[in-house]
Amino acid sequence: MKTGARVPVPLLDLEAQYRPLRDQLLSAIARVCDSQQFILGREVEALERELADALEVREAVAVSSGTDALLVILMALGIGPGDEVLTTPYSFFATAGCISRVGATPRFVDIDPLTYNLDPSHLRAAITARTKAIVPVHLYGLCADMDPILEIAADARVPVIEDACQAIGARYKGRQAGTIGTIACFSFFPTKNLGAFGDAGLVTTNDGRLAHEVRLRRNHGAEPKYYHHRIGGNFRLDAIQAAVLRVKLPYLSQWTDARRANAARYEELFAEAGLLDRVTVPFEPPGFEHIYHQYVVRVGDRNRVRKKLAEQGIGTEIYYPVPFHLQKCFADLGYGRGDFSHAERAAGTTLALPVFGELTPEQLAAVASALAEATR
Ligand SMILES: *Cc1c(COP(=O)(O)O)cnc(C)c1O
Repeated sequence: MKTGARVPVPLLDLEAQYRPLRDQLLSAIARVCDSQQFILGREVEALERELADALEVREAVAVSSGTDALLVILMALGIGPGDEVLTTPYSFFATAGCISRVGATPRFVDIDPLTYNLDPSHLRAAITARTKAIVPVHLYGLCADMDPILEIAADARVPVIEDACQAIGARYKGRQAGTIGTIACFSFFPTKNLGAFGDAGLVTTNDGRLAHEVRLRRNHGAEPKYYHHRIGGNFRLDAIQAAVLRVKLPYLSQWTDARRANAARYEELFAEAGLLDRVTVPFEPPGFEHIYHQYVVRVGDRNRVRKKLAEQGIGTEIYYPVPFHLQKCFADLGYGRGDFSHAERAAGTTLALPVFGELTPEQLAAVASALAEATR
């Protein structure tokens, strides 16, 4: 391994993905401009069909963002004031924020320290008479352990909402993320594995009645126009975003393969450099297929390591520095430090390294050698 040769590595390089697709993308956008149909319509319907096929699910409803996907799901399930929703304390804010926005109370269940996902062994004890849904998150692109979650949910007669925003294409015992629970949300935020040119999201379900409820609420609960059956919102997707996603979708599985190959290469390089006792690499349990939306390691003295990597031109990020139960906006939930110790420890020790598909072998080696330096 070369050392000293400084190869800058950004956390994510969207331009590397854009450049070879530029002509296709611009002509797809031009097609929408020429049609002068900008919201929902044929382009969005075509995307929905293509995504339903790719994700192996009956219903796909395109919406305005991943956050709105989760919000409209909670609305469609009739979850509101007085209800509790169980979820992880360690995720992107939207997971818990949406629960509060519909007037329900988020209740947290600690994570498994190996997978960073909700630990089903604590779940049953957290169920109360008020529990109205469970929201496992497939964090970083690894599915939560769904079978025990589904079993506990079935006993409690509550739906399971998968937050699959980071997990498009991930698999759990052969099933794809977003097809395992009752209903699921995805995000096409530009930095997600399948990214739009702005905000975009998706709801998937095999339940036709629920899909209809989501479609209704996506457009102010109206059917037909101006006859409102439900109080929904404007959760519609733009045709330009659909057109961009339709260009990118056929490449998703090869981009995922490249991310998985990068993760495997990191593990080889870290082993060669003798790093595996200082750097905890992501865990992929048997039967799970990680899609490495993020490649997250644990290191001691994380903030110092991060600073040293930055000095070597290596981009990293902390996902996420503060678990939900310690966020100021959730102070009224009554949680305190120590309540979810695995989530707290993860927030203090994890670091995301670059893993995007276009990384070169030189860049992967540069990250490994900089990490060896930084953790020495
Ligand atoms: C990105 C993300 C969301 C929200 O998606 P947006 O499209 O940014 O609104 C929700 N949950 C998780 C876990 C996410 O990573």
